Amino acid sequence: MTIQWHKTTCPYCGFGCGLMVGADKGKIIEIKGMEGHPVNNGMICTLPANSVPMFTAEGRLAKPMIRRNGKLSPVTWEEAISHIAAQLKKIIETHGPGAVAIHSGATCMTEEYYLMNKLMKASIGSNNVESSTRLCMASSAMGFVSTIGADAPPACYDDIEMADLFFIAGNNMAVSVPALFMRVAQAKEKNGAKVIVVDPRRSETSAIADIHLQIRPGTDVALNNALAHVLLREGFVNEEKVEEYASGLADLKELLKMYPPSKASEITGCPEQLIIDAARTIGRSKAMLTFWFQGYNHSTQAVFKNNSLHNLWLLTNNFCRPGAGPLSITGECNALGCRWIGGLSHLLPGMRMVANPQHRQEVADFWGISIDKLQPIPGRSVIDMIKGLHTGDVRAFWSITTNPAASLPNTKWILEGLMKAELLIVQDIFHPTETSNLATVVLPAAQWCEKTGTFVSSERRIELAEKIIDPPGEAKPDCEILWLIARAMGFERQFPYSSPEEVFEELKKITKGRLCDMNGVTYERLRKKVGPQLPCPEANHPGTPRLFTNRNFPRADGRAALLPREYSASKETIDKEYPFVLITGRQQWHFNTRTRTGRIPKLHQNAPDNFVEIHPHDAANFNINAGDTVEVASSRGMTKGIAHISDRVLRGTVYMPIHYGNAINIEDGRLANLVINNVYDIHSKQPEYKFSAVTIKKSYSC
Ligand code: SF4
Repeated sequence: MTIQWHKTTCPYCGFGCGLMVGADKGKIIEIKGMEGHPVNNGMICTLPANSVPMFTAEGRLAKPMIRRNGKLSPVTWEEAISHIAAQLKKIIETHGPGAVAIHSGATCMTEEYYLMNKLMKASIGSNNVESSTRLCMASSAMGFVSTIGADAPPACYDDIEMADLFFIAGNNMAVSVPALFMRVAQAKEKNGAKVIVVDPRRSETSAIADIHLQIRPGTDVALNNALAHVLLREGFVNEEKVEEYASGLADLKELLKMYPPSKASEITGCPEQLIIDAARTIGRSKAMLTFWFQGYNHSTQAVFKNNSLHNLWLLTNNFCRPGAGPLSITGECNALGCRWIGGLSHLLPGMRMVANPQHRQEVADFWGISIDKLQPIPGRSVIDMIKGLHTGDVRAFWSITTNPAASLPNTKWILEGLMKAELLIVQDIFHPTETSNLATVVLPAAQWCEKTGTFVSSERRIELAEKIIDPPGEAKPDCEILWLIARAMGFERQFPYSSPEEVFEELKKITKGRLCDMNGVTYERLRKKVGPQLPCPEANHPGTPRLFTNRNFPRADGRAALLPREYSASKETIDKEYPFVLITGRQQWHFNTRTRTGRIPKLHQNAPDNFVEIHPHDAANFNINAGDTVEVASSRGMTKGIAHISDRVLRGTVYMPIHYGNAINIEDGRLANLVINNVYDIHSKQPEYKFSAVTIKKSYSC
């Protein structure tokens, strides 16, 4: 055997680890971390390290299928493409462009997002393009836009080794971004950096914390306001300096008067002295690096949580300099590339907004279309797409490399909506999934290592993931599927491509002069070296490790905004009938809804079933023992898992992993989303996965 090694980047979380993939005779043999890569320097976590069986796993889609007489039957690509094109055109003619919607994963490649957007926004005339970055990072994006004027994470991973304090909120990075956690833990050990963790649950990450603020779920705004209150009260804020780079200090101070630590202690359940200690630790820090992920973003107060956190690093001058700044890590590998190229219903390529007439004109000029073709009103968020399926306003739903039947909250309502679609296209790599089981058309797609394109990581680093082996059977790269359908709909002139590289060469031009400028990047450059951090406007530009180092922000007065944000309770209330708060999270063994990882024997065996973590006091009250099957019910439905009795959770709180749908290797009824609420933050339209009122009881049926 002669293994050929290929440089690539990880297809799972958004940290962007450099990987080496070994292949021989058209087969993937081994996957390992890339030594010397600036992100992970050879480190690799369980997901890619165990992913070799993913390429030969049962259920790989190899042929298109159309549902006839209730059954999915194999057809040729020509039949599938002409069927889809004809159906889409009929629906658009009858019900208008708004009756069509695309929802994709955030692990698609930048080139693929560009084609989805061009097809929908420029050719069809609908802004109904969404991606699962709506479910993951939309609130971070809106938080950045409102505070600093752009969805542009300013810090970089090199800051990890330069920080003297890590503020980690709403995330168990030890299991969700293990390579990041290893860097943080090593920096703490080597440099003596301190760690503050904010999490309602004791976790592998809080195990290394100097201060763990174990707050009640959803109370982060009250906590952040109290931290800011103490920072101001105890003289840790240089107000004159803050006024130079941030507006809104007077209004913020007024609001913060209402948040002494005693009040925050009542709201959050954290001891008052611990809040004061945490604030003093922040105040004394010379370089604080701030991390926050889905624990913040899965909330009806998500954008306010982001803003109130941004107030902390702005007040303490902890940003845009070595070791200091805000870093939100995306849950999926190309969430940032997706947003920057317009992959949400309110966005246009190149960090532009559909509601901005100048942005619409720039994009219309670029695409050579009338500005009237670009709709000025944001399209539907993914939750609103499902609402549209229920009401009949959306008739065609196209799911690309994602699994909304399992990933979206309130499963029963989601399934009812999806089943109403006249045309439900599922373009994916495996069948069955919870969504492909409902499809009217299934398209077999190539996966990572079987196709070529770029990913942009959470520190704005662009990398190339190239085709190494052929996809199985007739599976095609997503780019090719998209341009074939576009051409069949009559958009031949707009979609003349024959390679993803041609798509990239076009899309990078629309980023010119923007914070996501990719004009210094070529596939050739990415093949030879580690990719640069964007913006990278010219061929000889080294990339941009940190943004806004001149403290000039893209807002009208050049200053960031200190935003006074009041705490409000979550939408759902706890009562006698539903006395517990359900929070959710990831496990190290699975990714999203297990479409891939549930088919990898080692990963499945390590975490074959869902569980419910219950505080010992609550378990005793409800006569539940470790290992019992537990029913978790809300007003929306019921799910089950194995009881784990642990004081990692607070009394009154239960925890479940997110991963377990019913399509593979598990019995039905284990999915947390069966009970989760489908309300969302009105500013980001991101659903509240992390606060659902539930009750629990021992299940006697198993
Ligand atoms: S930490 Fe994230 S990017 Fe790195 S190997 Fe693990 S899943 Fe991949």
